[in-house]
Amino acid sequence: MQTKNREIAGHPAGLYILFFTEMWERFSFYGMKALLIFYLTKYHFFSDTEGNQIVGNYAALVYALPILGGILADRYLGFRKAVIFGAILLVLGHAGMAIEGSQAYYDNAGKVVRDETAVQVFYFSMGLIIMGVGFLKPNISTIVGQLYDKDDPRRDAGFTIFYMGINLGSFIATLLCGWLGETYGWRYGFGAAGIGMLFGLLFFIWGQKYLLGKAEPPNPELLKERSAVGVSKEWLIYILSAGGVFVCWQLVQHHRVVGSILTLTSVGVVLFLIWFIIRKCTRKEKGQMIVLLVLIIFTVVFWALFEQAYTSMNLFADRIIDRKTSFGEIKASQFLSLNALFIILLAPIFAWIWVKTAKRNIEPSTTVKFALGILLAGLGFGALVAGISNADDFGKVSPAWLVLAYLLHTCGELALSPVGLSAVTKLSVPRIVGFMMGVWFLATASSEFIAARLADIASVDTSGGIVTDVKGSLIVYADLFRFLFYIGLVAGGLLLLLSPLLRKLMREEKMNQ
Ligand code: GLN
Repeated sequence: MQTKNREIAGHPAGLYILFFTEMWERFSFYGMKALLIFYLTKYHFFSDTEGNQIVGNYAALVYALPILGGILADRYLGFRKAVIFGAILLVLGHAGMAIEGSQAYYDNAGKVVRDETAVQVFYFSMGLIIMGVGFLKPNISTIVGQLYDKDDPRRDAGFTIFYMGINLGSFIATLLCGWLGETYGWRYGFGAAGIGMLFGLLFFIWGQKYLLGKAEPPNPELLKERSAVGVSKEWLIYILSAGGVFVCWQLVQHHRVVGSILTLTSVGVVLFLIWFIIRKCTRKEKGQMIVLLVLIIFTVVFWALFEQAYTSMNLFADRIIDRKTSFGEIKASQFLSLNALFIILLAPIFAWIWVKTAKRNIEPSTTVKFALGILLAGLGFGALVAGISNADDFGKVSPAWLVLAYLLHTCGELALSPVGLSAVTKLSVPRIVGFMMGVWFLATASSEFIAARLADIASVDTSGGIVTDVKGSLIVYADLFRFLFYIGLVAGGLLLLLSPLLRKLMREEKMNQ
């Protein structure tokens, strides 16, 4: 393929191709995710617990599959082809989500009657999205790193720009799809998400020439080889992955099985990495990989707190927050756009702080930044607890507290997430960088599952998705949020204590290189 070498505003043009593709991918992803819990509880009348479980299964699988997408890209497909394949699956999945069927109702005996066909189409579409994200998400992030040389000082800035693309997509989607879905009908919200993804796919196909050939298959001849079943190896990968969609379709409906698979995969991956570090790494690589592994493990805590946004915090916004304003009522899902908005506003400030502190030689280490992120996530829940203790006589809480919680969570995310992506591409042994990006997202997968379990602490009785006892539910939400506040403080504090040790480890290994 012909490549084009250009720079725009000091960065390779390819960065902007990745920026806009990922912007559309996240537009579709977050647009759909913001509606999910409401669609399940208000349209198909699932209980809070069932809804949390389905969101948890979906979100866990969506972030677990990147392991597979990462390995297949490392070994066979290369990152560019993997992104295109993932995007095609995503377009199909989001199109399927727009089929909503008919709303559930209660029969004479008070039992929920659902449109089962529509529910199955919905699960199947989720299967397509899960596989699609698995191929797209880790690999597009890895390509960002590939555009820069190992020591290129622009690398972290490149990731910050890329992260703004992610959140621009999320910001527009949560405002638009949330509003369309909750006002005009779910299919409009989900449909808009699908159209966004189609733009993403077309844009990437047009712009792939700017990736400088850095995302090509490691061994193109191998891909062309015939497989045992007659088709080329490349096509065999596509066909088997399409088969994987059927597996995900079933899995997304079975919470326990997802839990067991996640546990087994996570334990397997950690054991593999320990073996890999001991047996296959040079001294320098060892230090870097150990630090990376510890950091990735701690992200589980961060995302488990942060991801409450899509279950307990989303329902809390709907039920408890006083959403009436002089401009009309704000939709609960629209509060989610605050996270993305704060990222867009604050990312340049954070990037500036890192550059300034680096100049004075006082830049916090990646570990300290991570600890800060976790502490801030905990403090966000502190704000919600404070908000609940200041509830009005009707049990309603001012939106200012939720805004503050999202602000704190977002500052935490900025200290941990873009920094973490960059750390993966920098600290990982190059030959397994796609896999390590998958491991990074696998940590999120575990936290999504844990997040759904935690959200269950605040499951309250509903009828057709509407809370029956608002004041009683306040106590339940306060219990959950207080618990998460403590978890954040303890885990963040622990990592802070570990940071000198990790720093020493890195330094020693550097001296021995
Ligand atoms: N919000 C970020 C994204 O969508 C981070 C997600 C994650 O790593 N858990 O890319």
